[in-house]
Amino acid sequence: MTQPNSQLENSKQTIDSHHHFFTKDSVTAFNRMIPPESYQDNPKFQQFLEELPTTEERAKLTVVEMEKSSVDKILLMSFSGDFETVYRAREMYPDKFLALIPFVDPRYDPPEIIGDYKKKGAVSVKFYPGSWGNNFNFNDPRIFPYLEKCLELELVPMVHFGVMKGGPVNLNAWPANPLELRPWLQNPKLVDQKYIIAHFGAGYLREVFLMAYSHQKRLYVDTSGSNDWIIWSPFPNLTQVFEKSIHALSSQHILFGTDSGRLTMRHDVALRQKGILEDLVTRRVISDEDRWDILGNNTQRLLLS
Ligand SMILES: [Zn+2]
Repeated sequence: MTQPNSQLENSKQTIDSHHHFFTKDSVTAFNRMIPPESYQDNPKFQQFLEELPTTEERAKLTVVEMEKSSVDKILLMSFSGDFETVYRAREMYPDKFLALIPFVDPRYDPPEIIGDYKKKGAVSVKFYPGSWGNNFNFNDPRIFPYLEKCLELELVPMVHFGVMKGGPVNLNAWPANPLELRPWLQNPKLVDQKYIIAHFGAGYLREVFLMAYSHQKRLYVDTSGSNDWIIWSPFPNLTQVFEKSIHALSSQHILFGTDSGRLTMRHDVALRQKGILEDLVTRRVISDEDRWDILGNNTQRLLLS
């Protein structure tokens, strides 16, 4: 099932492609997306913010925790509006934190900001359209300059469509549909642009497969998070989600991720997914090479080469 790739030698390393990194220093930026009024009656959440570690503490702790789950490298994802924190953490451990995925919110950030991010170590940008409110979908023409910029700078955007959680309830939040990629997948100026769809589409895996029927070469999914959207889907379990995705997208279009954030490393997620991959190798659904492609080499080739 592996596609030949003569330029790169396969290695056996695990790269976490979806890892939120935020600290005490991110809270001001956090308020840009989730205003303090929205959690003034939520003492638990306030306490969580107050107890966040500093950037230095969080970076150190993450390096210790990643060893426990045999995660070798991480791409750090910034919180909305907060690039400084991930930039500083990467400066501390450039061999562990290989690159950065800054959050871009088109309601606040101009497309030009992507150029600055690229200079400072970004390999992708994260879009979260479900949080943009009722008047701004991912298929909005205002998104074009961002995608054009990504293509020009050879960044592969990562988009979280589907169900949303994290933070207090926000009435504007709504599960965006990945079919909103239509104007961009069909745009002649963006034919070389690839897309990473987070969390197997977070409830919209069928829609991802429908698009992959014609656009498989340009679509990737990441495996990150609890993937508890499965409970509300026709897929029986995460093993089936992996198997179906391997058939529909290929093992080379699946990127391992944990979606760590509140915890410095989600060991449960890493352990479970490594176990599933072990099972798939044992049953010869995938080769050992495919397993290491999913765990690290695909991310290496797509974002880091
Ligand atoms: Zn996430």
